Amino acid sequence: MRKKIVAGNWKMNTIKDEGVVLASGIASKLNDVPSDVTLMVAPPFTHIYNVSEALKGTAVEVGAQNCADHKSGAYTGEVSIDMLKSVGCSFVILGHSERREYYGENSDSLNLKTDLAFESGFSVIFCVGEKLSDREDGKHFDVVGEQIKSVLYNMKPEFSGKLIIAYEPVWAIGTGKTATSSQAQEMHAFIRKTMAGKFGKDAENIPILYGGSCKPSNAAELFAQPDIDGGLIGGAALKADDFIAIAKSFK
Ligand code: PEP
Repeated sequence: MRKKIVAGNWKMNTIKDEGVVLASGIASKLNDVPSDVTLMVAPPFTHIYNVSEALKGTAVEVGAQNCADHKSGAYTGEVSIDMLKSVGCSFVILGHSERREYYGENSDSLNLKTDLAFESGFSVIFCVGEKLSDREDGKHFDVVGEQIKSVLYNMKPEFSGKLIIAYEPVWAIGTGKTATSSQAQEMHAFIRKTMAGKFGKDAENIPILYGGSCKPSNAAELFAQPDIDGGLIGGAALKADDFIAIAKSFK
């Protein structure tokens, strides 16, 4: 049985007090969430500590949206994996399309970051996804296959239990345009097959989340697909009611 996961990517939203209110709102509604659903939230760096304090004693996992590609040292402005661990993080989102697009994230830095994260005991939500032009050119499988092979094929198999993959078609992120459940399922099955090419049967246990304008009104249909194990949620993760409603959308 694969884990069912709903993860919130808060991006550059909320200041500290707003983040704590959001986390407390989530904490107050956890009784509504089935016990086999894992909830994860990734606030901005500045209030990870406060959010993890607000969620203390709950099963909600707290993580970061990025980490440095070095362990420590003279890297002004960067935040290391050990720093993240010290404020309560257990996972990190890596390879988000916004980081690939605006901050030059590439397979070189992602190889370093995934290694550091796994070696420190973190789970990694590794994001992949094609742009609209890739899909229009019929290259979406090639693009996603390459994003996987250039990083995840280099990871040690022993860490596959700590890996979560998020398929996020770039054209669906924050646009209100969702992939259809069959488009998403088709890509998730491809991702699982690609992972099986390197990790064999262990690929069966890797959760693959869908991300891109997932909300309470479309989550149930997406999560009903055989290879969709939950969602990575942006906008709808900023309202506790919506986030919890998505977490209740599994059959
Ligand atoms: C995301 O950026 O991870 C995301 C899924 O955003 P949204 O839900 O807002 O499309």
